[in-house]
This record gives sequence, C-alpha cells and structure tokens, in this order.
Amino acid sequence: MEEFHEGGCACSVVRFRATGQPRRVSLCSCSWCRKRTGSLIGISVYFEKNNVEFMRGKLKSHRLMSDAGRWIECQFCGQCGSALSWTLEFLPEFRGLAGGAFDDPVFIRPERYVYYQNKPGWLEISGDINRCPAMPENPNQ
Ligand SMILES: [Zn+2]
Ligand SMILES: [Zn+2]
Repeated sequence: MEEFHEGGCACSVVRFRATGQPRRVSLCSCSWCRKRTGSLIGISVYFEKNNVEFMRGKLKSHRLMSDAGRWIECQFCGQCGSALSWTLEFLPEFRGLAGGAFDDPVFIRPERYVYYQNKPGWLEISGDINRCPAMPENPNQ
C-alpha cells in the first residue's frame, strides 16, 4: 500500500489525506504565513494536487495577495477556522497543506526557508536548508 499522511483541523470536522511524498516543503515567515498560523513561521507541505483528498467536513475559501504580489487561494475549516490548504498562483499543480495540521508530522523535512529576512532573531536554523531572504525571482527554483 502506498504511503499516506493524514491530518485535520482543530475541531476535527475536516480531515484530509495526502498520498506519497511531498514535492516541496517550505518554512516561511511571510505576512500571510504569520497571520494564518498565529505564529512567526508557517510550514507549507506541497503535494501534487491529485494526491490530496478531503475525506470529510466543509471547507471555506478566500483569496488574497501574497507579499510577492501573486494570489493565494486559501481553504479553512468552516467551523473552527483552521487554515488547512492552499493553492499558489505559481504552483497550480500543487496543493499546500499546513504542516502543523498533520497527525504525525515526523515525515516533514523542510528544504527551504522563504522570507528568511523575517526570521525571528532568537531562532537558530541548522542543517541543509536553502535560505531565501524573500520569494526568489523564480519561485520554482
Ligand atoms: Zn475545524
Ligand atoms: Zn508564507
């Protein structure tokens, strides 16, 4: 059986399953990630969109502009408001999932830190993580 990772929102009404391995995992301190998480860093885990399934619950969505001036379509639980999933204008074939929403997040290995210029001064990042001050000129790199 193929590997899968499940998660859901704070009130447990919405549940999702992602199959296989993530295609991209980013830490990010852009203003949207800070607002959506209520924290200083967001963890975005991207799977191919066809590998993400919402099993139950009702999502609401809204569209906003990123710090780089591109749209983000964000989906959240209609009951508790947890931001769970998003699509980015420049990565339409991927679906982002909130790293903290996974039941068992040990598989998550960030490979990049975007908006590193906003990293809190007290936080040390170690290991082989690509540090991008803002969003790279070509975000697919
Ligand atoms: Zn909920
Ligand atoms: Zn961000």
